[in-house]
Amino acid sequence: MNDQNDKREEQEEIGLYEKLASRTADLLEEGKKTFDEALKKAKDELASAGDFSREQTDKLGEFVRRDLKENAEKAKDAVVKAVEPQRLAAGVQSAFSRILTSTAETLTELAAKSEKHLEYKTGEVTSPGTLTCKECETEMHMTKTTRIPPCPKCHKTLFRKSY
Ligand SMILES: [Zn+2]
Repeated sequence: MNDQNDKREEQEEIGLYEKLASRTADLLEEGKKTFDEALKKAKDELASAGDFSREQTDKLGEFVRRDLKENAEKAKDAVVKAVEPQRLAAGVQSAFSRILTSTAETLTELAAKSEKHLEYKTGEVTSPGTLTCKECETEMHMTKTTRIPPCPKCHKTLFRKSY
């Protein structure tokens, strides 16, 4: 894959991540679905619209789930502060806030496993936050939705995330 294609794919994945997050928030706000049901419906809609393959929506859907569901409590402040409100008409910032509000009841349950060590890898798409290289402890501060690069110092590919 050449650099230009890679860049295009990266933009596509970031766009899909943001669309999934935003649509999941819409569906949760209607109040009839759990987080998992809303995410599944958002994935189905985007895959049937034809712009993205089922494989892409499944892959990015898992990244959205990890950031929004498993890290919801920790992520909230960082994400709300970091996402530029003018970046998307739909407002990813508000999408994140809305998801976190809608899932408030499950946060107690989630708090129990909030210390769980989630591993992040180069090439995955994630919301704003700080990624720390597991090899050399170098920190990367992400201020917007990003596809994770290799560690700038040691070029390794495994990170933990904090907010
Ligand atoms: Zn490193």
